Amino acid sequence: MPSNVAEPYRIKMVEPLVMHSREDRADAIAKAGYNTFLLPSKMCYIDLLTDSGTSAMSDKQWSMMMLGDEAYAGSESFDRLLKSVQDNYGFPYVCPTHQGRGAEHIISRILITPGQYVPGNMYFTTTRYHQEAVGGIFVDVIIDEAHDSTADHPFKGNIDLAKLEKLVAEHGADQIAYVNQAVTVNMAGGQPVSMANIREVHEFCTKHGIIHWSDATRLAENAYFIQQRESGYADKSTADIAKEMMSYFDGLTMSGKKDCLVNIGGFLAMRDEEILIKAREWVVVFEGMPSYGGMAGRDMDAMAVGLEEALDDHYLEHRIGQVRYLGERLLEAGVPIVTPIGGHAVFLDAKRFLPHIPQTQFPAQALAAALFVESGVRAMERGIISAGRNKAGEHNMPKLEMVRLTIPRRVYTDRHMDVVADAVIALYAKRDEILGLEFVYEPPSLRFFTSRFTPIA
Ligand SMILES: *Cc1c(COP(=O)(O)O)cnc(C)c1O
Repeated sequence: MPSNVAEPYRIKMVEPLVMHSREDRADAIAKAGYNTFLLPSKMCYIDLLTDSGTSAMSDKQWSMMMLGDEAYAGSESFDRLLKSVQDNYGFPYVCPTHQGRGAEHIISRILITPGQYVPGNMYFTTTRYHQEAVGGIFVDVIIDEAHDSTADHPFKGNIDLAKLEKLVAEHGADQIAYVNQAVTVNMAGGQPVSMANIREVHEFCTKHGIIHWSDATRLAENAYFIQQRESGYADKSTADIAKEMMSYFDGLTMSGKKDCLVNIGGFLAMRDEEILIKAREWVVVFEGMPSYGGMAGRDMDAMAVGLEEALDDHYLEHRIGQVRYLGERLLEAGVPIVTPIGGHAVFLDAKRFLPHIPQTQFPAQALAAALFVESGVRAMERGIISAGRNKAGEHNMPKLEMVRLTIPRRVYTDRHMDVVADAVIALYAKRDEILGLEFVYEPPSLRFFTSRFTPIA
């Protein structure tokens, strides 16, 4: 039997869950156009749509909310956030934003000249959107193993140095806007990057005068994998590992909604004062004053505490252990998932789960909808719908066609994970009954959020 350490917290406040009837769920998913993003949350029994902004905050975070300084300018809450980022990640400068994509928008405007390349370890939806919106060309330089749902590699999120070298040799370093390295890699299944890889990319970038940026949204979870898997780190704390990881980067974009354990917020952090000055020029236009960037003072205070709490070894041991617990239960039952199991989610491999549905009939979208009807568990498509269309208007065809069971932080118990595992296993036994889907409505960008579908009879 898979096992996990017990939750390293006790529950002080509860939010009741309601299990609706199968009939009501079938009705709800049809009304939602078979898109789990369009379901009312109260229809969901266990909500694994995302780990973004869904964390439970601690008593300490809630108490700091009361001390938030809501001054328009010169807020003390900003000073506390700045200090926490300096202490925990080691960057001298911080520019707050309303959430991660606000930071991505601003850094894309600062660093990208139209026509320049932006290599990254696999795309992320909002990241690539903002890079392309200002004329950048995203290039995937992740190792090949990342695109194979069963390839065994301890650091499947690594950048392939040979791919990066080839890109730079072909176009010249001045045609590279910056290298964007995500830790961990969401779209690859929450797969980590090794310290050795971060260091190598850092050395490569330094040699060629290229800026090395991090999408540090899940840096705490990445630090835990380094502690567990990379030689030389077993005796180091995740807090120390995270700080070393960040020491190699010129700056980061952060979605505080993940590893900062808050419901809203984000920021840019950097070493170069020039970049800070430019970030402040843009932040006042799109987000707010540079001392709040779209957040309330209390939000900044909650984030200042949360980003440190996320680097606690006991918290991370349970957090990653809970994801692994769910994944191992599914593996034991023969359900196809992405392996090794990643940091924030278990990814069902919809191509192997539903081999009778071609990718152009959106197997992962269909599987997420069927899982909701089966159990009230809400998950998310991460496949062809998320990948969108290319410039010619054709579907991007990602190798990975997945349903993401994303575990919110400190919210559900391992007993909830049993309910989820039982539901997926039950659905797997009758997978032949699941039908493919076709579009009823498709928006022009980030289509996964608002598309509507109907089953193909
Ligand atoms: C969530 C996320 C983002 C975007 O952040 P938001 O806060 O949702 O705007 C960027 N990169 C990664 C890897 C993410 O998971």
